[in-house]
Amino acid sequence: MTATPRDLYDEVILDHSKQPRNFGPLANHTHHADGRNPICGDEISVYLDLDELLLKGIAFSGQGCAISKASASLMTEDLKNCTIAQIKDRVEEIMKLLTEESESDAFAQFGGLAALTGVRSYPARVKCATLPWHTVLAALSGKFSASTE
Ligand code: ZN
Repeated sequence: MTATPRDLYDEVILDHSKQPRNFGPLANHTHHADGRNPICGDEISVYLDLDELLLKGIAFSGQGCAISKASASLMTEDLKNCTIAQIKDRVEEIMKLLTEESESDAFAQFGGLAALTGVRSYPARVKCATLPWHTVLAALSGKFSASTE
């Protein structure tokens, strides 16, 4: 039996929520913010280590549902070694990916992040998936908290 894309997506989310990458506070961070999604109860803190304009290190901690954790885990892998400008562009792209219909063949450039597109059909879960990305923007702009409300 071959796995459908849907199965593969579920696997990515399960994997990243059970074994989150870059999980735990980053000792030497230059920026940080705490993100909250009151609807689901997700609380995700994001830590950034910026060297000039380059993101040398990124990690997250906190607790939340499988979607918010998987999104945060995938995000840390996606944004590492990006410049601030690239991060801002990427967050915009991901917000669009998570909220707008787009051609599925455009998914290739998003790698494992495409797994998160399953939330589009569930408006309440969209906030779980976008929370870590909102939180990164808050951290970059010197705010210490972000909320989906
Ligand atoms: Zn959630």
